[in-house]
Amino acid sequence: MTIKILSDDVASQIAAGEVVERPASVVKELIENALDARATEVDIHIRGAGKQLIEVSDNGKGISREDLPLTAVRHATSKLETAEDLFRVSTLGFRGEALSSIGSVSQMRITSRRAEDEMGCTIKVEGGEAGQVRSVGTPPGTVVRVENLFYNVPARLKFLKTDRTESRHIDRVVTHYALAYPDVRFRLQREGQTVIQTSGSGDPREVLAVIYGVETAKQMIAVIAEEDGIRIEGFISPPDLTRSNRQEMNFFVNQRPVKDIALSKALTQGYHTMLMKGRFPIAVLFLELDPEAVDVNVHPTKAEVRFKDKGEVFKGVSRSVRRALLAHTPVPEIGGPRGRQLWGGGRPNRRGGDQIIDPAWKMAAEVDKADVTDLPDDSRQEVASLPTPILRLIGQVATTYLIAEGPDGLYLIDQHAAHERVLFEKFLKERDRTVHSQALLESVQVEFPPAAADLLEEKIPLLNGLGFKIETFGPHTFVVRAIPSLLGDISPAEALRSVVQELEVDESPLDEKIEEKIIARVCKRAAVKAGQVLSPAEQKALLRDLESCESPRTCPHGRPTMIHLSVDLLERKFGRKGPQ
Ligand code: ADP
Ligand code: MG
Repeated sequence: MTIKILSDDVASQIAAGEVVERPASVVKELIENALDARATEVDIHIRGAGKQLIEVSDNGKGISREDLPLTAVRHATSKLETAEDLFRVSTLGFRGEALSSIGSVSQMRITSRRAEDEMGCTIKVEGGEAGQVRSVGTPPGTVVRVENLFYNVPARLKFLKTDRTESRHIDRVVTHYALAYPDVRFRLQREGQTVIQTSGSGDPREVLAVIYGVETAKQMIAVIAEEDGIRIEGFISPPDLTRSNRQEMNFFVNQRPVKDIALSKALTQGYHTMLMKGRFPIAVLFLELDPEAVDVNVHPTKAEVRFKDKGEVFKGVSRSVRRALLAHTPVPEIGGPRGRQLWGGGRPNRRGGDQIIDPAWKMAAEVDKADVTDLPDDSRQEVASLPTPILRLIGQVATTYLIAEGPDGLYLIDQHAAHERVLFEKFLKERDRTVHSQALLESVQVEFPPAAADLLEEKIPLLNGLGFKIETFGPHTFVVRAIPSLLGDISPAEALRSVVQELEVDESPLDEKIEEKIIARVCKRAAVKAGQVLSPAEQKALLRDLESCESPRTCPHGRPTMIHLSVDLLERKFGRKGPQ
């Protein structure tokens, strides 16, 4: 015989592997159980990124003494009875797999008491072996304590990511449920320190503020729609509040966090043409539909769902997002913050007002190959390093572009992209020499959501090396005492926020790379915006500074800073010359 039936041990470990992939999966299952037990308070304690300890306590309805030993048995559930029930699941759990799976790959203790019972009970499960039930005094509710996860599956342990990454996954899980259940009080403690705490007041905006910070929460646009039996509710960011990744697009189907590419697409389609390429909105959207119209039993971790009518759901989401966006008319930013000094306080203009540098000589030879518009995408790189022609300023259009005349026609310059490039190169140059730091008259305190604060804390030395002066100040709070002088009067809080956004994009890039990315991001913040009126002197200064850049043709993120309309092109367009 070569075919053998796997031993129970091995079989249950394999099954466990599907449900319990990492510490965050344990946290997810335990939170779901607490919520299914109608808890209004859920407390989560983590040690060693969840490898050492995960403990979830709730004040839910508890487990009876008779039921307690069953909890750790595979396919034992109080939530489903018949196969038909599977088609109208209204609880988060239903497979009866979580506790047995967790129990087979850890040392687990479940302690519980129903409010109506005088005494509670407790049971220990180790590597899948359940011990005796004992009576204990304990408050009503349930505590599940999971220690030494994967102690008996070393291969699993090896595949876990760094503690920081695993912790981040845990934060994300707690965040999701906190958002979906605003009337439940959640508290997440890591190594004894509270990192997330919601009030349970039932106000979803309050939870948004805990997770994303007050500023962001204030800006989020409410979505409320109902059509064809689908109710869509939640919050989306205005088009100018975006992220460079899809991580903050959160979807919930019947209060269950789900991952679904189609939903993400529907959301971004709702923003059609409002978002820049490569930018993604922040969204927290709750879909409520008939349990029979959605199949949640697709995947052991229940993170994926299948809709009966995908098209309807897709349409519903993109339409309601669109409608919410259109109803929200943004305040036009024409003129921008007036009186803001474009080049930053007292920045010495290194090129001097009338300094005579006339690189016309280098122009003549270069100008022929300098036509951005005629180049295919893959030659952008080359274009980036072409020098800027000497430009004669004509003026500003749409308070967004500068028009200039060059030796070979017309140049349209995107003032924001151009300024980004200028700041970026100055920053890099300064970094190699001494960094100029500008002390703030009044230091500024900035608070971040827990996960973001963690990221930032780690990079403080790097940022201080760039001219910031940042110190930690209590949990999740930082004090900014100085910022790089190049940034002028950019708001220190904004500068820090953009740094954190950059950090959030990537898990652990090389320091060298992250430094440039941070600089690029901060420069983007500090650069003049589209829609900002520039005085003729400021316009001229921008052109001159751009001329002296090493890669003047693109912004640090790769967008073109200028478009060239050659005399030749103009002549052809006006029919003065040959066929088009
Ligand atoms: P499922 O949630 O799919 O039913 P689990 O293995 O997660 O399976 O849990 C098994 C059973 O244990 C549940 O059906 C429920 O009756 C009970 N249980 C688990 N956690 C709790 C809790 N925190 N409070 C009350 N009962 C619980
Ligand atoms: Mg469960």
